Amino acid sequence: ATPTALMVGVGRGASLGVLVRGQDAFEASGGIDTVVLDKTGTLTAGEMSVDHIEIVTGERADALRYAAAIELGSEHAIAQAIVTAVRDEGIEPNVADELSVMSGLGAQGTVNGSPVLIGSPRLMAEQGIDIADSVAQIISTEQDAGRTVVVLAVDGQVTAIFALTDALKPSAAKAVRQLHKLGLRVVLLTGDHERAAQAVAQQLGIDEVRADVLPAQKAEVISALQADGRSVAMVGDGINDAAALAQADLGMAVATGTDIALRSADIILVRDRLTVIPDAIRLSRATLRTIR
Ligand code: ADP
Ligand code: MG
Repeated sequence: ATPTALMVGVGRGASLGVLVRGQDAFEASGGIDTVVLDKTGTLTAGEMSVDHIEIVTGERADALRYAAAIELGSEHAIAQAIVTAVRDEGIEPNVADELSVMSGLGAQGTVNGSPVLIGSPRLMAEQGIDIADSVAQIISTEQDAGRTVVVLAVDGQVTAIFALTDALKPSAAKAVRQLHKLGLRVVLLTGDHERAAQAVAQQLGIDEVRADVLPAQKAEVISALQADGRSVAMVGDGINDAAALAQADLGMAVATGTDIALRSADIILVRDRLTVIPDAIRLSRATLRTIR
C-alpha cells in the first residue's frame, strides 16, 4: 500500500501546485517544526524599485551616471532597479572598467579613473568608508520603513543613498498565519539589513529574524537551527539559497526561482501564492500518516 499512498500524495500535490521530487520529502516533513523563509524573491515579488534618492555630495546627474555604470555589471534586482531609475531621469550611464560583484554586498569598479563602490551600509563599513551621522540617520529612517538602502561611494566619499522597495506578495501574511496555525515556528532569512528585515517581519507577524546574512552563510543559519534540535524546512528562490535548501531537512523552491535553487529542493512550489507552503506541509503530513 505504501507506493500507492505516495503516488496519491504526489498526485494531490500536483493539483495543489506542489511538485514533490522524491519520496524523502514526505519522510522529512514529518518532524518539521520550523519554516525558514527567504525574503527577497520569496516573500517579496523580487522586483525592486527605487523610491528615493538622496544626494549627499556633488551633482545628482554625476552620481546617477556613476551608480548606473557599476550596476550595469550586476544582475541583482537592486542593480536593475537603479539602472532603470537612472534611465528614467533621462541620464545615460557611464562606462565602467574593472567591474566586480561582491555577492550579497554590492559591486565596484572604476569610472573615469575614480574608484566607485555601491552596496550595503555593511559593505561601506568593511571598506572603511566613513558615513556621517546625518547620513546614518537617513539610512536608519529608510530601513525602519522596510526599505533596502544602498550607498554609493565615489573616491572613497559617500555620494548618494538609494532607498528601494520590493512589494510583499499579497499572499505572504496569510501564508505566515497558516504556518503558525500548523504549530510551526517561522523565521525570516535575508542578506538585507536587520532594521529593514524587522520592518517586513512585523508586517507579516514573523517573530524570528536572521538578517545581514551573507549568501555563503545562509546554510550555516540552517545548520545552527538544526544543532538547536529543530527540524527545518527552508523556502527560497535564489542562487544564494541553494546551499541552504540542500542543508534543510526539507527544501522548497518557488518555481520562479533560479535553476540551481530548483535543483537543490525536495519540493517545488509551482503556484505563486505563498499559501502553497502550508498546503505542502499539510499534504506531506497527511501522506506520511497514510504511509506509516
Ligand atoms: P537577499 O538575501 O535579501 O536576497 P542579497 O544577499 O542578495 O539579499 O543582498 C544583500 C544586500 O547586499 C542587499 O540588501 C544590498 O544592500 C546589497 N547588495 C547586493 N547586491 C547589490 C548590488 N548589485 N548593488 C547594490 N547593493 C547590493
Ligand atoms: Mg531570494
